[in-house]
Amino acid sequence: MDSPLNHPYDPQEFRAHAYPLIEQLANYLSDCRNRKPMPVLPPANPEELYAYWSQHFNQESFDYQQFCQTVIDQSIHIHHPHYIGHQVSPPAPLAALTEMLSAFLNNGMAIYEMGPASTAIERVVIEWLARQFGMGERSGGVLTSGGSAGNLTGLLAARQAICKHNVWDQGALEGQKLAVMVSEEAHYSVARAARMMGWGDQGVVKIPVNEKLQADTTQLENCYKTALNNGLQVIAIVGNACSTSTGAYDDLHAIAEFARSHNLWFHVDGAHGGAAIFSEKYNHLVRGAEQADSLIVDFHKMMMVPALTTAVLFRNEAHSFETFAQKAEYLLANKSDNQWFNGAARTLECTKKMMSLKIYALIKQYGLSIFSDYLTTRYDLAKDFAEMIRHEPDFELPVEPQSNIVCFRYCPPGNKMPLNQVNAAIRNKLLEDSQFYVVQTNIREKVYLRITLMNPFTTLNDLANLLNVIKNFFPAPK
Ligand SMILES: *Cc1c(COP(=O)(O)O)cnc(C)c1O
Repeated sequence: MDSPLNHPYDPQEFRAHAYPLIEQLANYLSDCRNRKPMPVLPPANPEELYAYWSQHFNQESFDYQQFCQTVIDQSIHIHHPHYIGHQVSPPAPLAALTEMLSAFLNNGMAIYEMGPASTAIERVVIEWLARQFGMGERSGGVLTSGGSAGNLTGLLAARQAICKHNVWDQGALEGQKLAVMVSEEAHYSVARAARMMGWGDQGVVKIPVNEKLQADTTQLENCYKTALNNGLQVIAIVGNACSTSTGAYDDLHAIAEFARSHNLWFHVDGAHGGAAIFSEKYNHLVRGAEQADSLIVDFHKMMMVPALTTAVLFRNEAHSFETFAQKAEYLLANKSDNQWFNGAARTLECTKKMMSLKIYALIKQYGLSIFSDYLTTRYDLAKDFAEMIRHEPDFELPVEPQSNIVCFRYCPPGNKMPLNQVNAAIRNKLLEDSQFYVVQTNIREKVYLRITLMNPFTTLNDLANLLNVIKNFFPAPK
């Protein structure tokens, strides 16, 4: 009998849908790489697109291929060399393809039986990454869904290890006010993690930054003392590698020493820039990361894979088993502790994706050097762009770029408007113009344009064109 469920699971139907989609994506990739004129972010407001899809949803007919094409057309084009906005990678197609394998097999990963191959591959990938950082014999870790979850995982482990009271089992002690120190440039997920753990606003002790927008390590002692005087129990300190807004790397080595001397947990947020470890030219930026008690790296930022895939590494893997020590008996079935292969015991997730496959496939297919090439060329390009800006009389940099994130602003000749207004207007004009996708940020109350060079094919010439587009917004006064 023809069950209605035959169709969704029909192998022939799967082929019929899959092959054209691969063609569509390959053509799309080729259009992007050839810089075929297309709006990088197709201009459309939320209401418009909502109306479109509401109407589409009510239509009788459906053409899967047409649907895929419309989604491609309406999306922001991360693979276009003029995409220089937020920090997500243009995934290497092989990584995206392997993600499909993972989605298809859908092994849930909570326990070994629910993901035998991917569990073993995850351990290989984690050990490889920990070796890259030189974290030592006892290191280990897990993959988790994103840097925000990764930062929370690291800080939960910190609390278990340092706070001298088992909050996980017994709840917070009356009057105990835990806190973490981190630079005022930190990603908001650190503050969010502190709030999720019930530490509130005061649970984050902000370290002021120096002129390079790095944590000012001469202030650590001061900050710490002030926090203690305010009745806080500081248990951890976080180093940025690098910060999100401006790409500044903190002095991890100095922070590690400070952490050791005060018995604090040292967590490194390397979501974006931890991948510098792969570059001989830039790995000095993460010097000190090997001393971290916990460290995160987002593979979906500077390592060419689709979101979300984050490594949480521990210098002493045992901490990774304490983080979520509560027993979900039906899953873990009373077995002895420290079974590395039962993932859910160690992660925020119960079910999670088979994240390790795409990383493994990329490394084996193309070799380790792709990560180094990718990072080094993108960081180099940022430096070259900064040099170009320095030669432009009407553009300015707030700070030298340390990574592939560059902030800059424009002061049009003869301008009389406040520069913040001018640069916010430029960002809006760039959105309307849609040849480039650029974002903006505030540094010391000033508005700057901000680019992140995520695309492997963006060139200095593209960036020169960007400056010309910006200049053309302001015709020279007659
Ligand atoms: C992106 C980012 C995060 C958050 O990571 P998600 O994967 O987006 O959750 C945390 N810290 C830094 C420094 C980041 O750049």
